[in-house]
Amino acid sequence: MNVLVLNCGSSSAKFAVIDASNGHELVSGIAQRLGSPQATLDFKVEAHKESRLLHGAAHEQALRAVVALLEELGVANQIAGIGHRVVHGGAKFSGSMPITAEVVAKIEECIPLGPLHNPANLLGIKISQELFPGLPQVAVFDTAFHQTMPPRAYLYAVPYEWFTKHEVRRYGFHGTSHRYVSQQAVKQLGLDPEDHAIVTAHLGNGCSLAAVRNGHSMDTTMGLTPVDGVVMGTRSGSIDPSIISHMKKALNCSAEQVMDVLNKQSGLVGISGLSNDMRTLQEAAATGHERAALAIEKFCYSVAKAAASMFVSLGRVDALVFTGGIGENAVNVRAQIVELLGFAGFSLDAHANAFHGKALRGRITRSTSPMAAVVATNEELMIAMDTAEIATAHLPSNVERLPGSGRAA
Ligand code: ADP
Repeated sequence: MNVLVLNCGSSSAKFAVIDASNGHELVSGIAQRLGSPQATLDFKVEAHKESRLLHGAAHEQALRAVVALLEELGVANQIAGIGHRVVHGGAKFSGSMPITAEVVAKIEECIPLGPLHNPANLLGIKISQELFPGLPQVAVFDTAFHQTMPPRAYLYAVPYEWFTKHEVRRYGFHGTSHRYVSQQAVKQLGLDPEDHAIVTAHLGNGCSLAAVRNGHSMDTTMGLTPVDGVVMGTRSGSIDPSIISHMKKALNCSAEQVMDVLNKQSGLVGISGLSNDMRTLQEAAATGHERAALAIEKFCYSVAKAAASMFVSLGRVDALVFTGGIGENAVNVRAQIVELLGFAGFSLDAHANAFHGKALRGRITRSTSPMAAVVATNEELMIAMDTAEIATAHLPSNVERLPGSGRAA
């Protein structure tokens, strides 16, 4: 079944048409710089790549242009469902959901938790409901996978009323990636589907780790928002909260302005003063840029410490799985992290690591218990698979309870 996967952000809309049965991508692309004169629609069909000007298009015109493109390519009438990435589902969703008026209302209720993302996600849903009135539409949440965390993992040690009255708790993100990668790891590494303990490390521009026990998330590093946890490209990760009031006074600015710096000018770019991009930092470090090397060292230390804390959440560890742009490609970063975790029984296989574990079904350690491995993520495919499963079961009369789909909490 072919599924249109949509990821609508504040100034861009990523899309892909994917055959959910085998992962084949018929077309993929991004409409970006929406609302500006430089708006473009960039897409890829097999080896062919093209970029078209959208002349200041905002979301609606951009999605219309995507539909026109799909018609031009002859795939529009082959689409059987639409899967939307939705960033924040709060504690309201523990799985993917067929989109109904009730689901839309609940996503709207989560806007205070995801003020930057949820409005754009909702806009994508509304426009595609207008453009594809007859097709089943499904919401796939970044937060849903982590709804199985126990209270000791999701509670912050703040007044309990902040949790009950203001929804202050750890939600976690990248759930679609952690779920996909942990499922793949079980198959790829030959782990027991009924009894496994995996730490997934999604290391891209945003970074988070998750502790996955028998298919369920038991803990994760991102929190109420994605700024919590490990050092990232531009985000600080966890810091002493007093830094916020200290810097507010020191810079004579608002808490929001300090938060903006913690989200956009910290992490790798903050320490290096050079770039948020790991490849750029590795190249600079190799030519003697000391702060680039320091940023990479801090990053690896932060991820290794977080991994060790995830071992505590699991009680044991079978596999540490690297994914995301850095996790899948940055050989030296993986090596540094695995070496820092040597005390826990990990021993790097430098040769296997240099080739991303390809000869050993992903494994990059000599040790097999525990092992470290590389598993490529594919969030779009996971969204397509959920959408196909729900669309197949979708009947207007039974949308409230679908086998295999999520449920509203
Ligand atoms: P996003 O979170 O935006 O999806 P990605 O998962 O694509 O980001 O990860 C982007 C990061 O991956 C960047 O820091 C980039 O430098 C890094 N990366 C990609 N390829 C390599 C590589 N070959 N070596 C080192 N880092 C890489």
